[in-house]
Amino acid sequence: MPVQLDSYLEGSWQSGEGSARPLINPATEQEVASIRSVTSSLAGAVRWGRELGGANLRKLSFAERGALLKTMAKVLHEAREQLIEVAVQNGGNTRKDAKFDIDGGIAVLAHYAYLAKGLGEQPWVVEDEAMEVFRSSKIRAEHVLVPRQGVAIHINAFNFPAWGMLGKAAVSLLAGMPVISKPATSTAWLAHRIFALLLEAQCFPEASFQLLMGSAGDLLDQVGPQDVIAFTGSQGVGTTIKTHARVIATGARVNLEADSLNAVVIGPDVESGTELFDLVIRDLITEMTQKAGQKCTATRRVLVPEALLEDVRERLFAGLTEIAGRTGEPSNKDVRMGPLTSQDQLDDARAGIASLSQDAEIVHGDPQRSGGFVGVEPGTGYFLEPIVLQATAAKAMDPTAAFHQHEVFAPVTTLLPYDGELASAATIIGFGSGSLVTTVYSDDRGWLAGAVAEIGPYLGRLVVANEKFANASMSPGCVFPVANHGGPGRAGGGAELGGMHGLALYMQRVAIQGGASQLARLLGGK
Ligand code: NAP
Repeated sequence: MPVQLDSYLEGSWQSGEGSARPLINPATEQEVASIRSVTSSLAGAVRWGRELGGANLRKLSFAERGALLKTMAKVLHEAREQLIEVAVQNGGNTRKDAKFDIDGGIAVLAHYAYLAKGLGEQPWVVEDEAMEVFRSSKIRAEHVLVPRQGVAIHINAFNFPAWGMLGKAAVSLLAGMPVISKPATSTAWLAHRIFALLLEAQCFPEASFQLLMGSAGDLLDQVGPQDVIAFTGSQGVGTTIKTHARVIATGARVNLEADSLNAVVIGPDVESGTELFDLVIRDLITEMTQKAGQKCTATRRVLVPEALLEDVRERLFAGLTEIAGRTGEPSNKDVRMGPLTSQDQLDDARAGIASLSQDAEIVHGDPQRSGGFVGVEPGTGYFLEPIVLQATAAKAMDPTAAFHQHEVFAPVTTLLPYDGELASAATIIGFGSGSLVTTVYSDDRGWLAGAVAEIGPYLGRLVVANEKFANASMSPGCVFPVANHGGPGRAGGGAELGGMHGLALYMQRVAIQGGASQLARLLGGK
């Protein structure tokens, strides 16, 4: 029997009034849950969070708020098995994919709980040392962050219902801003279960965390100048939010995490048969197939020196063939890759591959395959086997080529042969108009330093991998709470996480200007 997933607003569960939207198991196409959107105004919920939730949170010190995050992490860790089960059923996740999402969310809670310990008892964060306002002046200026007195509206994408919700909530709650979290509808069951567990365990003060299921209703019409909107999803919806009349009129702060054409650059010095080459292949396979390629950080473009192309193809295709044979019902122990999360995603992915194939050739995989998936009836479920396309070196240098414009949110990547020159690599990366992450593989220190300067401007994160650390290297799609998440341009222009940097999204930076000794006494200084 499908469960009905209610919103939690103004201190009570609310079943909503809209027509029921089914949530589907993408491997079986069975309905597992349903949601009715709240159609009445959300003005009360926004006010309740902003006023009562904000006051309740700001009464607590950073350390006390950090202790709440620690409790949340503990509660969810203890409920891990039931959460994994929900992710398998509603998200089409294998157990490993489900853990990636759930453990990732718990890790962010734990990290910000740890950071809280060093933030002191005062209600602000001192960012830097006091500086003379001009040379030899006794007057200094120093920057502090204070919690904004609004509500944080978190709108999340379908692919990480746990990490998306918890990653945003951890930072916001520690900063002292109450949260209204809206998960993407198609996979919202996991976010709902997480919220229900945290509420039941009384992990947060009254009104400081609310859950909105289904559509966003009139939420954006309620925003005010102290509010923050943190959105993760497609560029199109991100633009709608950023240009919403009320958002513009009030100057509410907006952070967008959107599409990204992440890349891998194999340096000209990388040779087949080395540990570094093995790492390239291992990372590529992970970044194509983890969560069936439905990751904002998945690798969409692979820059390969022309001389290495055959070796890369051979090893990559062998690995992907094995995964294609082990794609299927995600609860099956033999399965390595599950389905896409919905029929819409599958349709979008096939249309996207058709678009990419105008400028590149499909060299591995069959986008139309509909049978032979492990543990499922032929024609059932939203499965797509891994697909690799390949462009010519000349086409790779065409900024209008589809693979530089279009993110196919699925296990799909395009091989781009290049001449091994850093300048060419930087140009090609730049054609993506801003990405979350790029990985460069090389043992040439000068080449890597050049990559920092030349490729860095197009990215939120650059992963450098060499032979010495090949064994210790983490797959580049893994976002750690210490590192910045976000990217310029197409990726939304946002910034989240990044350890202490992440707090700035939910706090106001104020320059405090005054006498040197006065500032030292007032703020404590660094
Ligand atoms: P989406 O369709 O843009 O939806 C994202 C969220 O926005 C959902 O919660 C959705 O609710 C909500 N939404 C839709 N229309 C809205 C409106 N008019 N006002 C307010 N909210 C609205 O994206 P998606 O399909 O869930 O996710 C896939 C996309 O997310 C991909 O493009 C991927 O690149 C991107 N993504 C980016 C990151 C990152 O960190 N940069 C991470 C993950 C995913 P409903 O579900 O109820 O429609």
